[in-house]
Amino acid sequence: MTFLLLTVSRNVAGSKAPRIGVLALQGDVREHCAVLRELGCDVIEIRLPSHLEGIDGLVIPGGESSVMDKLSRIFRLATPVREAIAEGLPVLGTCAGLIMVADRIEDAIAGQENFGGLDVTVRRNAFGAQVDSFETSLTVEGVAGPALDVAFIRAPEVTAVGPGARVIASLADGRVVGVRGGNIIGVAFHPEITGEDRIHRMFLELVAQRSLQRPAAVDA
Ligand code: GLN
Repeated sequence: MTFLLLTVSRNVAGSKAPRIGVLALQGDVREHCAVLRELGCDVIEIRLPSHLEGIDGLVIPGGESSVMDKLSRIFRLATPVREAIAEGLPVLGTCAGLIMVADRIEDAIAGQENFGGLDVTVRRNAFGAQVDSFETSLTVEGVAGPALDVAFIRAPEVTAVGPGARVIASLADGRVVGVRGGNIIGVAFHPEITGEDRIHRMFLELVAQRSLQRPAAVDA
């Protein structure tokens, strides 16, 4: 596994697997944790600000962005997460997670806030209600091999992409469902519930690259 090799070669001081936080306020936290553990990560569920300490990357799962927003404020996570993202923490946001990192939201509920960081506009529930959920295959820039099988569940659509981001996945009809900008990857679909791990692998490559760019932590 390229990622682990890179990590192992960098961490001469003896450090090991990347420490990946999964925002665990609401949504399909367990499924993301399972994929990340399978890929060899040290996974921590993030429920309190102190849990953010020392993480190399953050996954924001699917669920309901308006609820995630409220809980993140109640648990005092909103500001530290926003700051960590602004400082360059690698983030993978899926579905509601994409909404949480978008700089602009259409069809937000009254007073809905988010973390931001990714120069895109997303429209919530753009594909209809829960009953309109569907699975499809699509290709994603940077992901090798056959098309990915993924699920769309009350998914958002990316309706505008600013100069700080680029499209990495679209549906056959041209609707944008995957974007990347800075250290953030956002997808409108759920890769974690169809046995797909290549989006997470792409994210871990980003985490590894960022770790290489930063001075290695010195063990006390
Ligand atoms: N519609 C949800 C929202 O607005 C997202 C759905 C999902 O994450 N599957 O947050």
